[in-house]
Amino acid sequence: MTGTPDKTLLDHLKRRIALDGPITIADFMNEALAHPEHGYYRKQDPFGRKGDFITAPEISQMFGELIGLWAAVTWQQMGSPRKVNLVELGPGRGTLMADALRAVRNVPGLSDALTVRFVETSPVLRTHQQTAIMPYGIPATWHEAFDEIPAGGNSPMIVIGNEFFDALPIRQFERASHGWSERLVGVDANTGELGFVRGAETPVTDALVPATLRGTAKSGDIFESCPAAIAIADQVARRLNEVGGAALFIDYGHPHSAFGDTLQALKDHKYHPILEQPGDADLTAHVDFAAIGRAMLEADARIGAVLTQGTFLRMLGIEQRAELLKENADDAQAGSIDAALARLIDADQMGTLFKVLIGYGRETAPPPCVSGAEG
Ligand code: SAH
Repeated sequence: MTGTPDKTLLDHLKRRIALDGPITIADFMNEALAHPEHGYYRKQDPFGRKGDFITAPEISQMFGELIGLWAAVTWQQMGSPRKVNLVELGPGRGTLMADALRAVRNVPGLSDALTVRFVETSPVLRTHQQTAIMPYGIPATWHEAFDEIPAGGNSPMIVIGNEFFDALPIRQFERASHGWSERLVGVDANTGELGFVRGAETPVTDALVPATLRGTAKSGDIFESCPAAIAIADQVARRLNEVGGAALFIDYGHPHSAFGDTLQALKDHKYHPILEQPGDADLTAHVDFAAIGRAMLEADARIGAVLTQGTFLRMLGIEQRAELLKENADDAQAGSIDAALARLIDADQMGTLFKVLIGYGRETAPPPCVSGAEG
């Protein structure tokens, strides 16, 4: 977004650090993204070509349509229950849900069964979501957090989250000579600006850095953990076991836990210094899909193998869908359909960096793209 930088949040953070000492990166991300007045997701609409970044549903309608069909088949495989909650975590502008609802309009019985549940903290984005799905006449409710969604007569649940986990606050731990020290955000005494500092060296628990990785760590290695993502994966897994259903998480990240500093800030489609202009730039980190999968397995739910976005969308027939759309398109439109397809599935674009993890209840049949996914 352009305009005068908003210094209020920066000043607030400096005051907080002056009073309490350095804060964790998670605290910094929380303030920068979710501060009630000045947080990035609270005060603006960051999406689309004019925003700071563009997400898959904003690139092409095919993305949401195919996810809608995935959800419809998942529902049918559960025996087409009379009621089903379609939950979306962090729905942005509501584009994915609108495209999904349009794609499943003609699936017999599904529209009558559906209730949409949006988990969204931003008031601005909630209005966008409401407008986006209005044409489809499906009842919808909004919730601050996943665990605030009511049990609702124990109807089964289908959960979708695209680029949701990457926006949740992470902590970073650096391997030091003896133990581990947390990377913190402090104020540089000379410049008066925010800067990264090292916390005291401490032993680190399994919950923060998996034991398997701790053994191989070299001095300077950084491990990122996202306690909020783990907590939500656990809550979703428990709910899927209770009521039946499936979850589809799509995000950029890695299939195995690994070392590395992946925290980044984006503003106007460009990388931006992380600690400058908090609240005016988006902050994200790679998602550790192994950690999310582990949390779901520990809660006794089931998971499929982690797929790349390219493989997942091809399995759902995105290439055929693009051909079909091109039949009614002029040359310019056909060109943009091809460009969008390449952007979503090509290895050098979003096709490989973005990953897909499907989780499901222990009494639910494996949803599409789980069986045969291995290998
Ligand atoms: N899924 C959308 C948007 C991704 S951006 C898309 O693909 O275009 C992240 C979304 O998560 C935004 O809607 C943001 O407001 C929301 N969000 C961020 N942190 C959240 C939190 N802690 N709880 C609920 N929603 C959150």
